[in-house]
Amino acid sequence: MKVYLDNAATTAMSKEVLEEMLPFFSEVYGNPSSVHSFGQASKNALDTARARVATALGAKPSEIIFTGGGTEADNAAILGVAQKLQKKGKHIITTAIEHHAVLHACEKLEKEGFTVTYLPVDEFGLVTASQVEQAIKDDTILVTIMYANNEVGTIMPISEIGAVCNARGILFHTDAVQAVGHIHIDVVEQNIDLLSLSAHKLHGPKGVGALYMKKGTNLPPFIYGGAQEFKRRAGTENVAGIVGLGKAIELATASIDENAKKQTAMRDRLIDGILKNIPEVKLNGHPTKRLPNNVNVSIKYIEGESILLMLDINGIAASSGSACTSGSLDPSHVLLALGLSHETAHGSVRLTLSEYNTYEEIDYTIKTLETITQRLRAMSPLYNPTTKSFSKDENTHSH
Ligand code: PLP
Repeated sequence: MKVYLDNAATTAMSKEVLEEMLPFFSEVYGNPSSVHSFGQASKNALDTARARVATALGAKPSEIIFTGGGTEADNAAILGVAQKLQKKGKHIITTAIEHHAVLHACEKLEKEGFTVTYLPVDEFGLVTASQVEQAIKDDTILVTIMYANNEVGTIMPISEIGAVCNARGILFHTDAVQAVGHIHIDVVEQNIDLLSLSAHKLHGPKGVGALYMKKGTNLPPFIYGGAQEFKRRAGTENVAGIVGLGKAIELATASIDENAKKQTAMRDRLIDGILKNIPEVKLNGHPTKRLPNNVNVSIKYIEGESILLMLDINGIAASSGSACTSGSLDPSHVLLALGLSHETAHGSVRLTLSEYNTYEEIDYTIKTLETITQRLRAMSPLYNPTTKSFSKDENTHSH
């Protein structure tokens, strides 16, 4: 059986999205900036996609700028605000558990003389609006806090944070890459000034996303050249990709409640099944303020990387809490910020669902994970099968 449970990394493209995109790779090829009918056909497609993205967020079409994905939208928002408001102030507030698209942009600004407050999170991965309020200084120009965390799925109190920023007149950006299409968002009601999203997390194509920029925010261009994207992001548009984003976001928002219900039920079955059948497992993230599709568990005494390999052999795609991809085996900054020890963080597995998953797949995953855990623990020098306990207090290990 093949089971894809890595939907926070990327999702399968929907057939309807693909169908909508296909003509723009062949028969509809005009440049949207051309005045002739070929160009206008492409321009109309961009307008439709822009309207669909705007509708999904409660925004106006003129407030949507298409980008090359979520990372680009995050960079454009953060670096753009810094560039525009640096004379007013050089302080930025964010959290310790942001995606690297945000953290590394903030680190770049620190090197240029900005100061950044990285708010700590609680054991569930939450920050509060009052933490944000207390961190605000006279020279604060931006608050950037993710809508929902990509590793542990915790959903931040975005409306409350938006209200604080609005009351203090500070721009509020949220990286909503994991939230759009999963949770109802209304940028006006929630006082969001800037929001990043990405198509490939909602059954759309990779390499395309959008930045919502509230009217009047007026950030400087982030790519210089032609007049495309309201002179903010020059270059001939990725028409097919943008069409795909528009269709994907429309489909996701049309069935948002139905999908959330289905995924929450499967998610909870997976969590319950793992916690009941495998001893000494910890659920990471918030028990209820959590994305409908996210499961993240630490399985004590074994390595997440070994679990992933064995899951893969058994046809199950998941991901782990070690940042192997960055060339190091350091555990994820998110899990450490939640207070997990290095050992517990190293034994973490993330399983993220989509509405394409089935109960049969969930049950197969629980069973497989149980078998794998038994096998790996039997080989683990850290695991003592007679006492079923850790041979040494996990917190005494130093790294
Ligand atoms: N922000 C978050 C929270 C993410 O999960 C991701 C994707 O992994 C990104 C930003 C980056 O998005 P993209 O892959 O479209 O650049």
